[in-house]
Amino acid sequence: MAYNFDKIYINGHWCDSTSGRFIEVENPATLEHFAQVPEGNEKDIDAAVKAAHEAFKSWSNTELAVRVGLMKKMLTIFEGYQDKIIDLEVKELGAPVSFSVQSHCVYQYTRTQSYIDCAMQLPLEEHLQASTVYREPIGVVACITPWNYPLGQVVQKVIPAILMGNTVVLKPSQHTPLTAYLLIDAFDQAGFPAGVINMVTGKGSAVGDALASHPLVDMVSFTGSTKVGSKLSQRALESIKRISLELGGKSPFIWLPGSDYEKAVGKLFDSIFLNSGQTCTAFSRLLVAEEDKKTVEALLLKHIPDYIVGDPSDPKTKIGPVSSKAQFEKITAYLKLGLEEGAKLLTGEIPTDFSHGYYIKPAIFTDVKNSMRIAREEIFGPVLCLITYKTIEEAIAIANDTPYGLNAAVFGNKQKAIEVAKQIKAGNVYINDAPRDVTAPFGGYKQSGIGREGGFAGLLEFTQPKAIFDRSSF
Ligand code: NAD
Repeated sequence: MAYNFDKIYINGHWCDSTSGRFIEVENPATLEHFAQVPEGNEKDIDAAVKAAHEAFKSWSNTELAVRVGLMKKMLTIFEGYQDKIIDLEVKELGAPVSFSVQSHCVYQYTRTQSYIDCAMQLPLEEHLQASTVYREPIGVVACITPWNYPLGQVVQKVIPAILMGNTVVLKPSQHTPLTAYLLIDAFDQAGFPAGVINMVTGKGSAVGDALASHPLVDMVSFTGSTKVGSKLSQRALESIKRISLELGGKSPFIWLPGSDYEKAVGKLFDSIFLNSGQTCTAFSRLLVAEEDKKTVEALLLKHIPDYIVGDPSDPKTKIGPVSSKAQFEKITAYLKLGLEEGAKLLTGEIPTDFSHGYYIKPAIFTDVKNSMRIAREEIFGPVLCLITYKTIEEAIAIANDTPYGLNAAVFGNKQKAIEVAKQIKAGNVYINDAPRDVTAPFGGYKQSGIGREGGFAGLLEFTQPKAIFDRSSF
């Protein structure tokens, strides 16, 4: 049977939730409720986890080559869904089509292919002095994902977990659950054994919690806010489940004094404004030398008009609405807070009306102190904080003065920038215009998370080492 947004997916079948209830999915550009998905419950989770537990017995013993073969087949089917994926991200997230094509769709194919390639090269057996270490799958993995990259966050977990021989119960965000249906459908059509992948949609407080505490779940892989991640982990750790957390950020971008700033603006704005600033890795704090503040402010103002806000289905639009009323209200509150804290709005405004969509213009606060809440807390919207520094040492200290440590960037002389990068406490640091590397480990220091996604590290995350002391004398 083909996918149907009214169903959940358990043990190789699209079926009804036992709740009989549904959650509406809203288009943030039109405020239209255009789809609904089941509001799953504990009973559904129990059925899905049991199916995954049963399937693990044979899937974990299935040859890697067979798993890889099925995953390649799945990817080919999934690639056929490109137009549908883009259309759904425009509707469920409000992501502009110009951004959706690459970031929400094609890059997810690249990621999947990369995991397939890495899985085939990954050494799963290591010979030590007097033992052999085998990397074995963990078991049933609960994958809980956020709304901001609806497909990306799912791909980052489900693909490596299954390639490594685990089975999965996925709970996508209730706000943007729809593209996950296309992925599950591709798994279904590719012929994965029943129970290897299962999906229950629903609210975090009910479904997410049931997953974190289910005795047959062996690992919880969570992406979302630090607050929920912390709570969820405590629940999961009551039964010592493996945990992996990809959490929030407040990432700094240091512009070294006297650099060619014009060349850095695109990287900065694409990070903090695209996806309406709803990106965990967004460079939300710009650190510039005190003497260059005026020059930089003028430069930022010059480029702001390039970031057109509007209808996400219009190819010219760069910034669509924010994803929901809750996001709209949260970001608006931070814009007000910034002014109360004494920062100055260089550009942007406090939105008052959302009757035509949850639109918020890109905003830049200047005269920001790193001690202000707008500089310390994750706003998760198109809001940039400009902070000045007197010396490079002070810039590094400000960059590191945050509870987070997910991402950072340094712009300027390459050698100097690398020296600075080494002193930043974050899982990823970009130098100048360097592109990202899909095979590099991705994940946070400090309150940005535990564990890594991407490449070999992302695959190993879903394995556990077993040492067999095999140098016996007979
Ligand atoms: P969230 O923490 O509110 O929700 C994430 C997921 O957890 C959702 O599926 C939600 O339904 C579920 N959930 C919510 N409450 C729960 C509970 N009590 N028990 C179990 N599950 C629960 O996050 P969000 O608002 O969906 O996403 C935004 C956050 O995600 C931001 O903080 C962002 O930085 C972070 N994020 C991090 C990364 C990363 O890779 N580090 C990537 C994307 C987003």
